[in-house]
Amino acid sequence: MSRLRRDLRMERATHRIEGTPRPRFDLAAMLAATPAAAGRLRRDPRGEERLALVPGTLRRRLDRTQRVAASAVAAPAAAVAEMAPKLVVIAEPAYLVAVVPDAPGGRLTPHDRQVIGAARLLADAGGGAVLALGEMPGEDLAAAGVDRVLGLPVAGYDPEARAALLHAVLDGLDIRHALLPESADGADLARRLAALTGETLFAGAESLTAKAVTRAAQGRRIEQRRAPPRLITLAADASAPHGGAPHEAIPVVFALPALMPGAILSAEFVPADPARVGLDEADFVVSAGNGVRDFTAFRALVEALNATPGASRMVCDAGLMPRAAQVGASGTVLDARCYFALGIAGAPQHLQGVARCEHVVAVNTDLHAAMIERAGLAIVADAQKVMPALIEALTGALAVEAQP
Ligand SMILES: Cc1cc2nc3c(=O)[nH]c(=O)nc-3n(C[C@H](O)[C@H](O)[C@H](O)COP(=O)(O)OP(=O)(O)OC[C@H]3O[C@@H](n4cnc5c(N)ncnc54)[C@H](O)[C@@H]3O)c2cc1C
Repeated sequence: MSRLRRDLRMERATHRIEGTPRPRFDLAAMLAATPAAAGRLRRDPRGEERLALVPGTLRRRLDRTQRVAASAVAAPAAAVAEMAPKLVVIAEPAYLVAVVPDAPGGRLTPHDRQVIGAARLLADAGGGAVLALGEMPGEDLAAAGVDRVLGLPVAGYDPEARAALLHAVLDGLDIRHALLPESADGADLARRLAALTGETLFAGAESLTAKAVTRAAQGRRIEQRRAPPRLITLAADASAPHGGAPHEAIPVVFALPALMPGAILSAEFVPADPARVGLDEADFVVSAGNGVRDFTAFRALVEALNATPGASRMVCDAGLMPRAAQVGASGTVLDARCYFALGIAGAPQHLQGVARCEHVVAVNTDLHAAMIERAGLAIVADAQKVMPALIEALTGALAVEAQP
C-alpha cells in the first residue's frame, strides 16, 4: 500500500496570495478558533459604551458602584434571569417564628427590619418560617424576609385589646418564638404579652443567635446569656436586617377572636409641633449647611414642609442656628425617617448623625459631595434657588388642595 507524500512547497503556496509573499488569512478557521464560535459570549465594547450613556444624550450615566454594568447587560436574557434573586419558598415549615413590627403608618421601620432579620436567624436554624403579625405593612415584606403574613384588625390605640389578640394568635398557631422591637410600643406590648401568658420575657436582647440571646445588666458589668425563650424583644441595631433573597410573604388563614375593648375609653392622636420636637425624636429634619445663605427662605421652607430644623456644625458655630440644632457626632444623632440636607458637604462627623435615617435628600452644587453620595435623591443646584422653588411648589399644591 502506497502512502501520499505531503508536498510542503505546494501547501505553503496555497496559503499565500498569488504572486505575493503575503500569507492568506483563513477567516473561517480564525472564526472557528474564537471563543464566540466556541459558545462563549463576545464582548461588544461599542454596545457597552452606548449603554453607559444616558439615553438620547452624550452624557455618561453616574455609576457609583464603579462596576461595569455592561457585562451584565450584554449577557443573554436567560443569564439575567439566572442572576435575579430567587424567591425562597418554605412550603412546610417545621415551626413558626412570629414578629410583631411597630410599622407606624403601615411602613416597616429600620428597627422592624432588624427584628425580622433576627427572626430569620431563629427560623433558618431549623427549617422554620417567619410570620409577620400586624396591620399588614404596605412595605415589601417579602424583601424584608417574611414567609407568612397575618393581618390583625386595627385596634386603634388599645394595647390591651392588641395584646389579647396576639395572645390568641401565639397559642392558636403554636408559635415557637415571638420577637418584638424594644421600642416604646413594642416593649409595652411584649410586657403585656408576658403578663398574659405568664412566660418569661427576655427584654432588650443585644445579640441573638439560634442558640443564645444576650444582654448587658448592672451598668454593663454583667452579660446575661441564655437559650432563646419564646418572648424576646430586640434592642435597636442588635441584629442585621435580612439581606438575602426575598421570601414569599403569603397570607395565613386563621380565625381571629373578636376584638375585646380594653379599659382605655378613648385615645386621641395629638400632633406635636415639629418646630418644638427634639431632634432625636423628629421624624423629618431639614438641615442647613454652609451652602445656605438665605436663612429666611430656609425657615420658610422648614415651615412649609412641616419639618424640624437642623444644621451642620459650621452653621451653628457661626451663630446662624442654635447649638441644639446641630446634627452629627458632636450634636444629635437622628432617628428620623427622612433627612433633607441643604448645602451640607457631608463630613464624616455629620454623616454619623444621619446614619440611621431611612431616606436622605441632598441639595448641593458639588456633584461629588459626600452628602450627595449618601443621598437617595439628590438635586445638584444652588440651594438659594431650590428653596424658593420648593416653597412655591408646596404653596401651589396646598392652594389646589384647598379649592372646593
Ligand atoms: C471633633 C469634630 C466633631 C465634629 N462634629 C460635627 C458635628 O457633629 N456635626 C457637623 O455638622 N460637623 C461636625 N464637625 C465639622 C465637620 O468636620 C465639618 O467641618 C462640617 O460638617 C462642615 O459643615 P458644612 O458641610 O455645612 O460646610 P462645608 O464643609 O463648608 O460645606 C458646604 C457645602 O455646601 C455646598 N455649597 C456651597 N454653596 C452652595 C450653594 N449655593 N447651594 C448648595 N450647596 C452649596 C458645597 O459644595 C459644600 O459641599 C466636627 C468636626 C470635628 C473636628
